[in-house]
Amino acid sequence: VTSAPPIPVSDAVDALNRVFGYPEFRGQQRDIVEHVIGGGDALVLMPTGGGKSLCYQIPALVRPGTGVVISPLIALMQDQVEALRTLGVRAGFLNSTQDFEERRLVEAEFAGGELDLLYVAPEGLGTPGVQRLLDRGKISLFAIDEAHCVSQWGHDFRPDYLTLSMLHERWPDVPRIALTATATTATRDEIARRLRLTEARHFTASFDRPNIQYRIVAKNDPKKQLLELLRTEHPGDAGIVYCLSRASVEKHAEYLSAHGIPALPYHAGLDARTRATNQARFLREDGLVMVATIAFGMGIDKPDVRFVAHLDLPKSVEGYYQETGRAGRDGLPSTAWLAYGLQDVVQLRKMIDSSEGDAAFRRNAAAHLDAMLALCETVSCRRAQLLAYFDQEAPAASCDNCDTCLTPPESWDGTVPAQKLLSTVLRLQRERNQKFGAGQSIDILLGKRTEKVIQFRHDELTVFGIGTDLREAEWRGVVRQLLAGGYLAVEGEYGTLVLTDRSASALRGEVTLMMRREVAVQRSRSSTRSP
Ligand code: ADP
Ligand code: ZN
Repeated sequence: VTSAPPIPVSDAVDALNRVFGYPEFRGQQRDIVEHVIGGGDALVLMPTGGGKSLCYQIPALVRPGTGVVISPLIALMQDQVEALRTLGVRAGFLNSTQDFEERRLVEAEFAGGELDLLYVAPEGLGTPGVQRLLDRGKISLFAIDEAHCVSQWGHDFRPDYLTLSMLHERWPDVPRIALTATATTATRDEIARRLRLTEARHFTASFDRPNIQYRIVAKNDPKKQLLELLRTEHPGDAGIVYCLSRASVEKHAEYLSAHGIPALPYHAGLDARTRATNQARFLREDGLVMVATIAFGMGIDKPDVRFVAHLDLPKSVEGYYQETGRAGRDGLPSTAWLAYGLQDVVQLRKMIDSSEGDAAFRRNAAAHLDAMLALCETVSCRRAQLLAYFDQEAPAASCDNCDTCLTPPESWDGTVPAQKLLSTVLRLQRERNQKFGAGQSIDILLGKRTEKVIQFRHDELTVFGIGTDLREAEWRGVVRQLLAGGYLAVEGEYGTLVLTDRSASALRGEVTLMMRREVAVQRSRSSTRSP
C-alpha cells in the first residue's frame, strides 16, 4: 500500500481563487472540502444556493483523477459542464441525449485522464458499459447530487438512485460525497443507509434563509390576489408562480400577460423545445415571471428570483421549502407567498386516495400533507416552524420577516365551534350513516335550508342552526385548522369529512383549540353586514 502525501488545503484555496475567482470559502465549504480531499466520505445538507457544487468541484480539481458527478437532470448537466468549461475546467458529461461520436470522445478523454469532472446520469451508472469505462480511468471521488432522490418517501424519488449503493462495493477506495438541499433527520438517515454512507461525516448547514419573507394567506380570489402582490410589491421583478395543474399554469400565464406582466408557462405537457426556450428566456431576460408546475426549477441557478408564489398548496413541507428556496439566492430580500384554501386540502387528499401507491405510501403522503397544513395554520413564527420541521432551531423566537411575526394573527378560542363541527360530522356518521364534505356540515351549522339539506332532512338534526355565531368563511377556517391539527380528516373523491383518533379529545373538551382569526378583508366585509 502506497500512501500519497496529503493534499494541503492551500491547494483548494488556490483553486477557489484561481479557477472560480472567489476570495474565500463560504460557511462549511472549507471543512467539507478539507474532509473530502483527505479521502473521507461526506453527507452534506445545505439549502439551495448554499454553495454545494464547490464542495465536490474543488476536491475534484485538486485530487488526482476525475471526479464523477451523479446528477439527475440531463438539461442541467449540460449547463453545468458548459459553465465549468468557460472557467477552464476540463469537464464532460455522458447521457442519453448524446450521439455515438460525442460519447466516444468523452469516454476517450476520461480514459486518458484528461477530465477533472465527469457528469453522468444515475441510469447510466447502472449500465455495464459505463461501469467498465469507469474502471479504465482514475476516479478521484464520487459526488451524488440531489441525494434525497434515493429516498422512497421523498417527493423526488428516482429508482435509479437505489443502484448507487454499488459504488462503495465496486470502488471501495474512492471517497463519496452526497449532497442535498432537502433533509429531515429521517431523510438524512435514509440517504446514509441506502447509499451505504455509514462512515460518512455529516455536514449540516443552517436551513434558515433570512432574506426570504414567508407569507401564507387565505385563498379568496387567487388571480386577483396574485396580481395585487406582483403589482404592489414586485413590479418588474423576476419570479416563479407555482400551480398544481397544467391547465392552471396556462390560465394564469395568460391572465398575467393580459394584465401587462410578462409571463411564460412551463409544464411537462409542453414540448421539449418550448420548455427549453421558456427556461432559457427566464434565465437570461430580466423581469420575467415563470408560471409553472413543480416540473420547473430543480437546480435552476437564477440568483435574482425576487418572489416565489404558490397558487396551490404544496404536497409537503420539503417541497414548499425547496420551491420557495429558489427565491433570493443572491441574498437580497425576497418573498415566498402562498395562497391556500380548504379546496386545496380536499384536492390533494383526493390525489392521495386515488394514487396507485400502497397503504404505507398513502399514509406517508397524508402525513406530509398534514405537516404542510400545520405550517399554514400556525399562529407562531413560520420560519421557526419551518426550521423545526428540519429539526433545526430558529435563530430567534421571532424572525421579524414572516407574516405571523410582522402582523401577529389574532387568535381566538375555537374550542366550542370545533366541538359543534365535530358533532355535526359525528351525528351524520352515527345517526345517518352518512359522510359529507365540509360545505354540507357548514350549511347545517348555519341553519341553511338548501336543497341538499332538505333532501337529506338535515334540518332535523339537533345541530341544525347551532353555528350562526360564525360566518361561512370562519367555519371554513375552523375546518382547515381541525384538519391541520389532525382532529378531522378528509377522504375520497368528494372530500368527505371523517373523524380521527384525536377527534374524541376535542369533543370531550380535553384540549383548547386556539385558532387563527380570518383575514381582515373578510372581517371588515362582515362588520358592514352585522349590526
Ligand atoms: P447549491 O448547489 O447549494 O444550490 P450552488 O453551488 O449552485 O448552490 O451555489 C450557489 C451560488 O453561490 C452560485 O452562484 C455559486 O457560484 C455561489 N458560490 C458558492 N460558493 C461561493 C463562495 N465561496 N464564494 C462566492 N460565491 C459562491
Ligand atoms: Zn417569523
